[in-house]
Amino acid sequence: MSLKRTLNQLGIALQDEFEADMRDSCCSCHLNPPCNYCIHPGNPNNLEETPEAWDDVEDVKESQAKWLNDSDIIFTAISTSAFESFKEAETAIVMLYVPDITFSRAGISHALKRLEDFYSKNS
Ligand SMILES: [Zn+2]
Repeated sequence: MSLKRTLNQLGIALQDEFEADMRDSCCSCHLNPPCNYCIHPGNPNNLEETPEAWDDVEDVKESQAKWLNDSDIIFTAISTSAFESFKEAETAIVMLYVPDITFSRAGISHALKRLEDFYSKNS
């Protein structure tokens, strides 16, 4: 599982506030530093430095790519082996892949569903 730093509710609220307040403004530090634009808590530079505005959330896209890839590996390995029935394939998966923690559970169950379908069409 990989994590991605993402603006949380507070961060999004600050960002919205900055965009609403400062839509027509820009930095005026050359006149009066530091200017309101730069010290606004929703300014992207300030947000970057505000840990409370961020959460580490699971990178769903990457997790999904990982389990689809696991599913493909298992499906290809099993469907090209000489198993005669889904039961045999299922037993092999339970022995080979379930104890292997590098394979995601979602990937294994997805591969099982695909294989069930594969054997029902090929028998
Ligand atoms: Zn400024």
